[in-house]
Amino acid sequence: MIQLEERIAVVGAGLAGSLVAHALAQRGAKPEVFDKSRGTGGRLSAARLGSMSADLGAPVVEQPVAARLLAQCATLPLEAWEHKAADFEGVAAAAVGRYVAVPRASALTRHLLQDIPLHTQVRVTAVEAAASGGWHLLSEQGETYGPFARVVIAAPAPQAVPLLASAPALQRAAAGVNMSPCWVLVVQLPVRPESVAQLDWLEAGDDVLARACRDSSKPGRGEGEVWQLQASSDWSQRYCEAEPDWVAEQLLETFAQQIGVPLQPLQQRVHRWLYADVAEAPLVPSLASPLSSDHTLGICGDWVGGGGAAGAVTSAEALIAALEAGR
Ligand SMILES: Cc1cc2nc3c(=O)[nH]c(=O)nc-3n(C[C@H](O)[C@H](O)[C@H](O)COP(=O)(O)OP(=O)(O)OC[C@H]3O[C@@H](n4cnc5c(N)ncnc54)[C@H](O)[C@@H]3O)c2cc1C
Repeated sequence: MIQLEERIAVVGAGLAGSLVAHALAQRGAKPEVFDKSRGTGGRLSAARLGSMSADLGAPVVEQPVAARLLAQCATLPLEAWEHKAADFEGVAAAAVGRYVAVPRASALTRHLLQDIPLHTQVRVTAVEAAASGGWHLLSEQGETYGPFARVVIAAPAPQAVPLLASAPALQRAAAGVNMSPCWVLVVQLPVRPESVAQLDWLEAGDDVLARACRDSSKPGRGEGEVWQLQASSDWSQRYCEAEPDWVAEQLLETFAQQIGVPLQPLQQRVHRWLYADVAEAPLVPSLASPLSSDHTLGICGDWVGGGGAAGAVTSAEALIAALEAGR
């Protein structure tokens, strides 16, 4: 059972951790959220691009996931995105319902966490039993937080492993998960290329590019011509350790060839997501048991719920259900 005023630490302010913290606060507990990054969102975050910002992770939320999110919190700043999609040959793609957070991807998690204490730029390095009972969080900077009655680990599996030393079954599950990388380039172009004047989303590219998304077409974005280019999973894996500048060159050149226009970006930013997606999760425990045997440590995240944003939502729902049921 979730106790009123119970102090619960949530490590990870991505979609899963934010949903759990929001649900805990609604049930009268006192969650506190920790993230190593400057802001919230994790793989649904945005990044600065000069004076602008651009979505750096998942560019959209698919309609079924958006519906589940809105069912949990009707005031979420999510809007349906009217957009034109095609493959790189220009053949129109099947219509898919896509939603975006407004004015940027991280608005989703900011909204969920708006009344919840949030500690950013705190990398949690260990979860240790407190002498007085409960758990302390230790940070890379040498700080100690807590004690907390419970701790939820909402980090990608490889980053969750060291934090689950006191819950061997959960730790084994996290250690068995493989996650795949993804290189992303966001660019601001001087003008909209003529060949994509009517297109906002290009997919099923070649070996290099998986998709290109016109960030500036999304609702609530500012002026400018900003695109997000996402490398394919295989290519990202092959060049995972390559120099970022070289990667940026390859992605931009490929996009330019695909759309048949030379490109001279005004500014750009390249990012490697080391743990972008769940590649393989052979040992993930049943969603019915995301808690340690004493119910004080829990896990959530896309890797617990089958991958992707849908997996993050599923895992958050399962964790809250398990905490409520005390199982
Ligand atoms: C480029 C890209 C495109 C994608 N496209 C899609 C798509 O089209 N459809 C789809 O469904 N999914 C897509 N995804 C995947 C989707 O974004 C994720 O599955 C989902 O956002 C994961 O949410 P999460 O909360 O589980 O994890 P995350 O968003 O990774 O959140 C985990 C958080 O934990 C923090 N953290 C980790 N370790 C620590 C620590 N030790 N201390 C403190 N904080 C820590 C991280 O900083 C992060 O903020 C995409 C991902 C990427 C990168």
